[in-house]
Amino acid sequence: MIEIQNVSKWYGSFQVLADCTTTVKKGEVVVVCGPSGSGKSTLIKTVNALEPIQQGDIRIDGQSLTAPGVNLPRLRSRVGMVFQHFELFPHLDVMQNLTLAQMKVLGRGPDEARQRGLSMLDRVGLSVHKDKFPGQLSGGQQQRVAIARALCMDPIVMLFDEPTSALDPEMVGEVLDVMVQLAQEGMTMMCVTHEMGFAKKVSHRVLFMDGGRIVEDCTQDAFFGDPAARSARARDFLSKIL
Ligand code: ADP
Ligand code: MG
Repeated sequence: MIEIQNVSKWYGSFQVLADCTTTVKKGEVVVVCGPSGSGKSTLIKTVNALEPIQQGDIRIDGQSLTAPGVNLPRLRSRVGMVFQHFELFPHLDVMQNLTLAQMKVLGRGPDEARQRGLSMLDRVGLSVHKDKFPGQLSGGQQQRVAIARALCMDPIVMLFDEPTSALDPEMVGEVLDVMVQLAQEGMTMMCVTHEMGFAKKVSHRVLFMDGGRIVEDCTQDAFFGDPAARSARARDFLSKIL
């Protein structure tokens, strides 16, 4: 579903991604971890073409992001993205947040968009808040709305970039619960997160990044199993967060 092939990227003379290669199969949940500044956010943004790459290729469901004439807005609409800071539109209520892109990008009519919005809101347990504004919701609720908003677009893949790291501790669980449910329903997911409980529960594979490289790419059993089989950097990282 996602093929990342020999991807390199530079900011000026600074190489932020170095020859990154991995694939995420349909229904697979891949957790990306690694120290701050290792390129996790950049990698995930390249998958959504929010950041251009200078070398390599990325394919979503077989479609190259760099092919001439590719319909990027359309392709991007099929790749749901949830950020650390929820990025809801503050001046729109929850339902408007959920329906806007459906109407603008997918061309759905207001009734259909609303129906879809309601059903996704129900899925994250927030139907009663449909008329509120983001500022009237807790951080955890806002993040669940952000997930519902992404799901309204019928994504074939969901990308998460540290979706719980800006939340108060008591709200982390409600967001992870929604992510676990999505994973168990078979959604293809690539999640930057340091929530290793989540990784152990639902991930199929773990990528460990360091210095712009994918240093480890292995099954979660292997990643959390034999420490001696881990790179020194991954071992050091795990010892700090586990
Ligand atoms: P992570 O998400 O793993 O913390 P990032 O992908 O955000 O890492 O950043 C990787 C590196 O790229 C960092 O050193 C960061 O300072 C640098 N970087 C990120 N965005 C930019 C940018 N727009 N311009 C220049 N350097 C950047
Ligand atoms: Mg980051």
